[in-house]
Amino acid sequence: MKLDITELLSGKIRVMPFRYEIPTSGGDAGDRGDRSDREGKGDRSDTGDTGGEELPLPPDGVVFTSPVRVAGKISDSGSCLYLVLDADADFEAPCDRCGEAARGTVSCRLERMVAEEGAVGEDGGEDYFIACEGKLDLDREVMEELMLSFPSQILCREDCLGVCPVCGRNKNRGECGCAAKAAEEIDPRWQALARLLREKKEKGKEE
Ligand SMILES: [Zn+2]
Ligand SMILES: [Zn+2]
Repeated sequence: MKLDITELLSGKIRVMPFRYEIPTSGGDAGDRGDRSDREGKGDRSDTGDTGGEELPLPPDGVVFTSPVRVAGKISDSGSCLYLVLDADADFEAPCDRCGEAARGTVSCRLERMVAEEGAVGEDGGEDYFIACEGKLDLDREVMEELMLSFPSQILCREDCLGVCPVCGRNKNRGECGCAAKAAEEIDPRWQALARLLREKKEKGKEE
């Protein structure tokens, strides 16, 4: 979405809060009712909000289950305009350990100065959001920052046990017995020790 900041630029207002959503393929932006004219899931290049350019996509296997929620404000400090925003979105992805669906929320924060097009030299451009004709389009920057904010490992839960390397069973659903079986197959001279260890483990579980 494009934010109209002409009132800030002209000094009419000093602070401009804003809040909006960036639709995603899994998002339900439709429930706001203003996109009911869109057909299907809509990866056909949208209503022009994004300038027709494709926004960055989430990492492989990750699907957004909500729109990207954006909230922030732009303040006029007297010498410059400063923007702070927070963005987050819900997602679903296969757990890196067990492959079951993992759900989470990814969030990011952006803080940057805002300048009008042509007001900053090329070398300073990185530090600024540039407004074109009084309008600021943040979607691409927000999406890029959000993509960088995904955890390096996505887990269904912090202590996910993963799958058994022998039978492939999801160990979160209980022991498959492969570990116990392997223990029985070890050298008979070690079996007494294995039994002791097993008993100790069992006892530990009861406590
Ligand atoms: Zn898992
Ligand atoms: Zn197993």
